[in-house]
Amino acid sequence: MPGKSFRIGPIRPPSEASSLLLQVTRGCTWNRCRFCTIYRDTSFQAFSADSIKKDIDSIASIADTVRGYAKAGRWDLDALNAHLASIENDDERQSFYMVASWLLSGGENVFLQDGNTTALSSGRLSDVLVYLKQTFPQIRRITSYGRASELSRHDAAYFAELKKAGLDRIHSGFESGSDAVLSLIGKGTSQEQQIRAGKNVKAGGIELSIYFMPGIGGKALTAENAEGTAQVVNEVHPDFLRIRTAAIKPGTELFEDFRAGSYRLCSDDDKVREIRRVITLAKGAPTSIVSDHMVNLLQEVNGRLDTDSASLLEMIDRYLDMPEADRRTFQLLRRTLQAYAPGDLKNIPAGRLAALRESVMQESEESWSEQMNALIGRYI
Ligand code: SF4
Repeated sequence: MPGKSFRIGPIRPPSEASSLLLQVTRGCTWNRCRFCTIYRDTSFQAFSADSIKKDIDSIASIADTVRGYAKAGRWDLDALNAHLASIENDDERQSFYMVASWLLSGGENVFLQDGNTTALSSGRLSDVLVYLKQTFPQIRRITSYGRASELSRHDAAYFAELKKAGLDRIHSGFESGSDAVLSLIGKGTSQEQQIRAGKNVKAGGIELSIYFMPGIGGKALTAENAEGTAQVVNEVHPDFLRIRTAAIKPGTELFEDFRAGSYRLCSDDDKVREIRRVITLAKGAPTSIVSDHMVNLLQEVNGRLDTDSASLLEMIDRYLDMPEADRRTFQLLRRTLQAYAPGDLKNIPAGRLAALRESVMQESEESWSEQMNALIGRYI
């Protein structure tokens, strides 16, 4: 008997905002990154294939109910919302909302949660993928997270088997390609593992989306962070390089280092220069660089490294060439959702802009970086 709810984990990439979330593992196998607290209170658990299939059956049952509100190709949204509002149980309401949102946006993409799905054996994962696609034949893309160290244990044949079963893309938080930075942040992986993992994922026919954290190495390792990451991009040629600007949050070991004075925060400009350096060093890679998260200062850094580097660098340089008072003013407005791009400063009334320019320059660089770090941290 299918249930009225199913498990839903806490995070997914922004690019999977309209995807159905299916939890196949809970938590993270590593749980020791020195900047991350997401799963600190969650023990890792890999669910059995039967248990995951039970959730898929529940999703199918809820989907049948949701589809009952579509008549002649049109959704009766008022009735659908009334049904949603009538559900008293929180888990059931959240499950119904997720399935309804998924179907309303086409019902084509699925994201497998949580932090390290490839910790499941390929057999168990393939079994689940095949069942998922049989239950929902309209699915066009299935994606998941995978840790580089875990991915590096598997050969291309492992990934080819998953691709055949239906896995299309793996998102992996590489964060940095520099061994010095990886060690500092406790990532539990190395550049060599990243390169082996990335090459095997791609050789198996699965798209690879890796995450880069400008600023995560702090002031001391800002050059290494950019250069090591560019080396990995040049070796692996990931399909996507997604920017996740670092925010060092209270409760993490890196924040303790910062408080103790052994870790200096990068400024927003240091982080932008890291992005610039990666683009410069990896400009031949057939990789799309993507800025798709609120934590990033320059949201317009989107394009292909092999064809769009010149225009990306021009855009970055337009920002870096602005007077420092304007750069800080933009940082503040961007971090408080009052501006989207540096050009938005021209829409600020002259008197207010002059006051802002004066005010932001009262702070020392260290104090300003700390304030911006705190503002960025609100978005993760
Ligand atoms: S691997 Fe990912 S989820 Fe796990 S501790 Fe590190 S950043 Fe957090």
